[in-house]
Order: sequence, then structure tokens, then C-alpha cells
Amino acid sequence: MQFRNLKLVSNVVFGRGCFNQLDEILAPHRKGDAPMIFLLDHFFEGKPLASRIPLRGKDKILIVDVTYEPKTMQVDKLAQELKEEFGTVSGIIGIGGGSAMDLAKAVSLMMNNTGSSADYQGWDLVKVAGVYKAGIPTLSGTGAEVSRTTVLTGPVRKLGMNSDFTPFDQIVLDPELTKDAPANQRFYTGMDCYIHCIESLEGTFLNEFSKSYGEKALQLCQDIFLGNKAWNDANDDKLMMASYAGGMSIAYSQVGVAHAVSYGLSYLLGTKHGIGNCIVMNHLEEYYPAGVKEFKQMVAENNIDIPVGICNGLSEEQFDAMLNVSLGMKPLWENALGKNWESIMTREKLRALYEKL
Ligand code: NAD
Ligand code: ZN
Repeated sequence: MQFRNLKLVSNVVFGRGCFNQLDEILAPHRKGDAPMIFLLDHFFEGKPLASRIPLRGKDKILIVDVTYEPKTMQVDKLAQELKEEFGTVSGIIGIGGGSAMDLAKAVSLMMNNTGSSADYQGWDLVKVAGVYKAGIPTLSGTGAEVSRTTVLTGPVRKLGMNSDFTPFDQIVLDPELTKDAPANQRFYTGMDCYIHCIESLEGTFLNEFSKSYGEKALQLCQDIFLGNKAWNDANDDKLMMASYAGGMSIAYSQVGVAHAVSYGLSYLLGTKHGIGNCIVMNHLEEYYPAGVKEFKQMVAENNIDIPVGICNGLSEEQFDAMLNVSLGMKPLWENALGKNWESIMTREKLRALYEKL
């Protein structure tokens, strides 16, 4: 038996207002006059947070458009432009939701790896460490702050650059940064965390490590999203830690059916991760009966609309493309359904599931 030797984020700071320590946190990682590059989620352009970024010397803020999830082309272009302008940089700091954080991880890796980020979509293909990288979440739920992947849509697949070089060197968990998130977005991204917990806890890869983190994250999600309570600051704190713990849980196990199916949706239709997972979870009673029941209760209590009918009118080729992306997520299916998953989740069965969405 070969046990995974998990590579973790090196440094973690947590607390309301800890963003103010960013300058001192970055100082030891500055290499001569090579700049720190801040990839800032476009939501914060012109907002107070942008002016709190501790710029020094040639440091630069790049506003990143996260209307669509990160693409390999976007990563390659950012890395190329930085190499042309600066040669090298001291670090890449991602400030935003999962999209901005994933961009920062991928650009950091591509500062030191040759070719295109698409060449590294898969497991353990990255061979050289990137430049110093830090992640600062402004939405809670994806677990991107702790994961060993950065999810990218490339020319042929939507798949992460999964590697031991991918986790951040530093994360700054300041729940104050999430307080302006709109209720719908907060719910969709929060449900990403809830679904991570269900998929991890109900999966065949489960072990005590994953279970300990998964149960804690699940309990926090239930506390936050059930009981018809008004949103308050404490919920931002809790959801940020739920995201962290949920991410730690799947780091040592795997996600499952909702993610495998939702990857197909986002590859073909551009459906964003959080909402895509919710669209799929709505129809997974067969696989996660208790989790889906509770999920629906959360949807109802929080007055959230989950889109339906998004696969209506798709062509054969389009269904095929989604099926190929989804069935390519082998570890996810194996975690969800066991070693002989292929005899359980046939193309026909998966096709029927997509038709319901
Ligand atoms: P997101 O980063 O895509 O952002 C969603 C929207 O919220 C954007 O319009 C953004 O501008 C806005 N936003 C961000 N912070 C805000 C704030 N504080 N207030 C108001 N608006 C704000 O959303 P997400 O759900 O955090 O991330 C989804 C992305 O994360 C996808 O690209 C997905 O592939 C990726 N992901 C990565 C991992 C991983 O382990 N690397 C895991 C899950 C998801
Ligand atoms: Zn997820």
C-alpha cells in the first residue's frame, strides 16, 4: 500500500483584518527588485481593497476578468507578458474567488515551466516549482486555497494541473474580505464546500484523515445554511474555515458524482463550478440520498433558484463531448462508485442523467 505524502500550504494566517499583514508577510520573499504581481478579481477594481494592496517598487496589480473560469490560453498569456516585461518576478498573489486563486497558482507555475499550461493538465505532470505564490480568498467554499490543483479549461479538456508544486506557499484567510459577496454567489460557492463534504464522506476513498475534516466542514455548513438564520459576520468566519476543512478532506480522498458531471457542463456550456455542482446535485438522490435531501432543504430555506433544463436541445455531438469529459474523470468515479464504476456508470446512464439537468 502506497500512502499519499500530502504536500500542504506552507503558511496560513487567519483572522479578521489579517490582510493588513500582507506587506510584512511578503517582505522576506522579495528577490531584489523583482516585483510582486497581484492578480485581483475584477469585482474589486476601484474598490477599497484594491488600494489596501501593499505595492512596493515595480509591483503591479493586474485586474483579472473572471467572468469565465480560467483558461490555459489566459494563463499562458499572463505568464508570457510577465516574462517579457520583468524577466522574473518575486511572486504571484491571487486575490479573489477560486478563479483568481487558480489563475495565480497556474501563472506562478508557468513562470518556470516551458510550453503551455495545457501540457500540464493532469496528474503530476508539472516537474519544476513555480515562483512564490500566495492565495487570498474573497469567497469561501471551493477549497482552492488549500488544494494541489488549479482547474483550467484547455483546448481539449477541463482539468487541473494537479501536482505537489501547485499548493500555495502562503494563504491569507481574512473573513472580512467575503462580507460583500451577493447571497446567490455565496450560496453557490458555499455549496461547493457542502458537496465536497458529501462526496468525500460518502466516497470509497474515505479514511479517518478525510473524515475528520469532512465532518467538521459539514457541521459548519449545516450550522450556516440551515435554520433560516440571518447572515452575520460569524458565518463568514465559519464558511472560510469550512472551505479550508472541506478542501483538506478532499485532498486526502476525492470528489465524486456531482463534480464529475459538472465538469462536463462547464466544459461544454461554460457553467460555473459552484452553480454547476448545484444543478447536478439537485438530481443525485440515487447516489447521495441524505445529502441531496439536506441540500434541497438548504436551497429552499435560503430562497435560491437552481436552474433547470440547461441541457434541453443539445445535439448528439454536444452530449458526446460532455460524456467524454465527465467519464475521463476516472478517480472521481472510482471514489464515488468503487473500482468497477465503469459497469455502473455506463454512457447510457450518464446520458440520461445529463438529459435531466
Ligand atoms: P469565482 O472565483 O469564479 O467568482 C465568482 C464571481 O464572484 C465572480 O464574478 C467574482 O468577481 C465575484 N466575487 C469574488 N469575490 C467576491 C466578493 N467578495 N464579493 C462579491 N463578488 C465577488 O467563484 P468561486 O466559486 O470562488 O470559484 C470558482 C472557480 O474555482 C472555478 O474556476 C473552479 O474551477 C475553481 N475551483 C478550483 C478548485 C481548486 O481546488 N483549485 C476547487 C473548486 C473550484
Ligand atoms: Zn468543487
